[in-house]
Amino acid sequence: MKRPQISAALIILVLILSGCEKQFIQQPVPVYPTHEPPYADLEKQIREKYDYRAVFTWDQYYELLTELSKDKYIVLPLDEMRKTYNDSKVVIGLRHDIDMNPFKALEMADIEKDFGFLATYFILPTADYYGYLYKTGLTRCKGLDSLIADLHDYGAEIGIHNDMLTAMIDYGFDPLIFNKNELAFIKSLGIRVSGTASHGSPIAKKTVPNYQIFSDFAKSDSVLYEGKKYPIGKNSLKEFGFEYEAYFLNFNYYYSESGGKWNDDKGFSGILSDLEKSSPGDRIQILTHPDWWGRKNN
Ligand SMILES: [Zn+2]
Repeated sequence: MKRPQISAALIILVLILSGCEKQFIQQPVPVYPTHEPPYADLEKQIREKYDYRAVFTWDQYYELLTELSKDKYIVLPLDEMRKTYNDSKVVIGLRHDIDMNPFKALEMADIEKDFGFLATYFILPTADYYGYLYKTGLTRCKGLDSLIADLHDYGAEIGIHNDMLTAMIDYGFDPLIFNKNELAFIKSLGIRVSGTASHGSPIAKKTVPNYQIFSDFAKSDSVLYEGKKYPIGKNSLKEFGFEYEAYFLNFNYYYSESGGKWNDDKGFSGILSDLEKSSPGDRIQILTHPDWWGRKNN
């Protein structure tokens, strides 16, 4: 009988302590659409599974975009960034890899709209939100077409987040055909795709980065996985239907919060002060994953 009382006291203590530690900047909370069918069911399922993973608040995203709205920057989607050279500005390429939660991407695009920024959103064909994969087959989720079209309607550039190693090794696909099908699907929505960005999937981490599927970047002609050899580097980026790979664009600084952690010893504040120190002529790629954003303020 004593145990529940102790637990309750502990919970109250933890709540009091955690409540005291938290202080947040008060920024307007974005009002984003409550989505209707055809993807309302998908939204419920994905949000229930992944929303809790957010580690950064939208307030912090406002802070980042507020810095980027200073005069010294030009903020562009990657397809435009790669063609833009301006020595009197810091040229920013805004990249988002959607690993798990495209509904956070819609929220993110909505915030960017407030600032008049456009970004590139890379969509992952091996993700839960995209479809159900089985041996040499893929059934796309209901409403995926509307979801991608809605994201594109914000003015976003849409690209493919490449996990062809998983499609090939786990599901037996020919990567060229797998990619061709998904590109055709996105193009059928009236969306032009020119870029791809490599996804750091578990299989890629055990073998080679996904961009080595392209002959442009492959360092050998095969990978070995669980005792079996799989060919890579058979076809070029161009043969796969792409004009650029995000990791191979021309930039001199790269900031990313992969795994929910900024690639700076001082974390988010370090990134902000690096940006403040940037000077005209710098070219910076900023990668954020919508999955890690939108942590509730309480
Ligand atoms: Zn990824």
